[in-house]
Amino acid sequence: MKVSDILKTKGSAVITVRRDETVLDLSEKLRQERIGAAIVSMDGHTIDGIVSERDVAYAVAAHASRLPTVLVETIMTKVVVVCAPDDTVNEVMSVMTKQRFRHLPVQDGQKLVGIISIGDVMKHRLSEVQLEADVLRDYARVQR
Ligand code: AMP
Repeated sequence: MKVSDILKTKGSAVITVRRDETVLDLSEKLRQERIGAAIVSMDGHTIDGIVSERDVAYAVAAHASRLPTVLVETIMTKVVVVCAPDDTVNEVMSVMTKQRFRHLPVQDGQKLVGIISIGDVMKHRLSEVQLEADVLRDYARVQR
């Protein structure tokens, strides 16, 4: 199974935030959209960074009462690891596990075409495992 299969069900909408928005604006966006991370982009296509709920949590400790006015660019991760639609689900699972993060933007060439989370990956992996189990069960039934 490939990343493009996940995007077929999930869609290619990507929530972005500008680097000059405040962490308060970002938190409100994460809450409204019920997501754990946003891509930082000034034009909605070019990836300037990524910011997740972990960055917000750490910023609470680092900036305390100044937090509402701190800008997204202060807390974002600037070097972003991406994946491609043709990458396999196993490959992205391995990247997420090794790098210890739960989100991967999907780029087709230079174009941002989606974002997948560890939750999306696990959901698809579970359906795959369930399907394999069903096929094996049917096979065993026919052999009896
Ligand atoms: P997460 O597990 O996705 O909440 O992210 C944990 C940390 O990794 C945060 O500091 C994120 O900014 C960073 N991060 C998340 N996804 C990526 C990614 N694809 N590339 C680089 N850093 C990331």
